[in-house]
Amino acid sequence: MTREDAQALDAADPLARFRAAFDLPAGVIYLDGNSLGPPPVAAHERLAQASRAEWGEGLVRSWNTAGWIDAPLRIGAKIARLIGARPGEVTVADSTSVNLFKLAAGALSLRPGRKTILSEAGNFPSDLYALQGLSALLGDRAKLKTVAPEDLAGAIDDDTAVVALTHIHYKSALRWDMAKITAAAHAAGALTLWDLCHSAGAVAVDLNGAAADLAVGCSYKYLNGGPGAPAFLFVAERHQGAICSPLTGWMGHAEPFAFEDAYRPAGDIRGLITGTPPILGLAALEAGIDLQLQADPAQVEAKGLALADLFIGEVEARAGDGGLRLTSPRDAARRGLHVAFAHPEGYAVVQAMMARGVVGDFRAPDIARFGFSPLFLSYAEVWDAAAALAEVVDSRAWDQPQFRIRAAVT
Ligand SMILES: *Cc1c(COP(=O)(O)O)cnc(C)c1O
Repeated sequence: MTREDAQALDAADPLARFRAAFDLPAGVIYLDGNSLGPPPVAAHERLAQASRAEWGEGLVRSWNTAGWIDAPLRIGAKIARLIGARPGEVTVADSTSVNLFKLAAGALSLRPGRKTILSEAGNFPSDLYALQGLSALLGDRAKLKTVAPEDLAGAIDDDTAVVALTHIHYKSALRWDMAKITAAAHAAGALTLWDLCHSAGAVAVDLNGAAADLAVGCSYKYLNGGPGAPAFLFVAERHQGAICSPLTGWMGHAEPFAFEDAYRPAGDIRGLITGTPPILGLAALEAGIDLQLQADPAQVEAKGLALADLFIGEVEARAGDGGLRLTSPRDAARRGLHVAFAHPEGYAVVQAMMARGVVGDFRAPDIARFGFSPLFLSYAEVWDAAAALAEVVDSRAWDQPQFRIRAAVT
């Protein structure tokens, strides 16, 4: 493909108009929207409004007058439209790690007598750590079992309470078949709990179409909600009356402002909210979600996969024997919107790319990872980034001491 071919794809791109809605610095090709999405221009305005007018002038009255108290469910209902859920099935709350803990415990409460939480080895560390913490807390009543992905379906048995998987793997971008795994879990009487961190705002998720039971996800990646933005959680309507949260806070009470001593669960999705919602984070997040809702999810997924295909194709066509090895599925149907290349000096390669204005990230031990957020990237930028990566590995431009200095966040 020539650069002119890439520019022709941009000219025909129905999502190209979204670029102007983002505040991105000049001279940067941002291939890390899968780690931290850039700010929508509207988020700056929304944050200023939430801070000055709502917090500053409205003060405590804004809980009622500025829609603060309804924000978790209001924004949850908007996220529901992006992930194939109904409005009352999603709320915003806490972080992904905390929500995973709550819903895994909730799954055990829905399957009394069953002890196993089944996940894949190599799942996102925080997911495994949260599940390890839960099983340590519950002693004999819970057991985390991790297996290789190829052994997972066969490992579901009559002791499995829940299968907890990341829909799109954070490193390889390998995509699970949500409907197929959910059907296998249900056939054995188990539930599914999906982590949608690399799926929401990226691929066209259909939780109810797949009959999924539970899900969590973060909103600072493809949803562009801002650093540390609050996460979301999904509980299928059929489970809401019975699921028990292990973190019973006042916002999950049937009547928070009755100030009763005894906990009474709300009995709907609110029962999974713990405490006071983070209003400033929600304000920025809502700007990101409102922008995302203007785009057709099928077009978003198709463009992201096309950008990733372009990147893989151009890198492999140009890079000679530079040591790069694709570790993501080559088949786009089995992939999310990021691409992982292994390289023995992956960290230094990513740093050398940054010195050329191309921002990706490094995942230990050897993965250079590049994400293709469809709303703000152009085909020409991705073409330029592929040329830069091929040049960096071919010329060994990464082989300089300053590129080996490890930062705290990689
Ligand atoms: C980014 C990510 C998380 C992040 O969890 P936090 O609680 O927000 O730190 C969790 N799971 C997966 C799969 C992720 O990619």
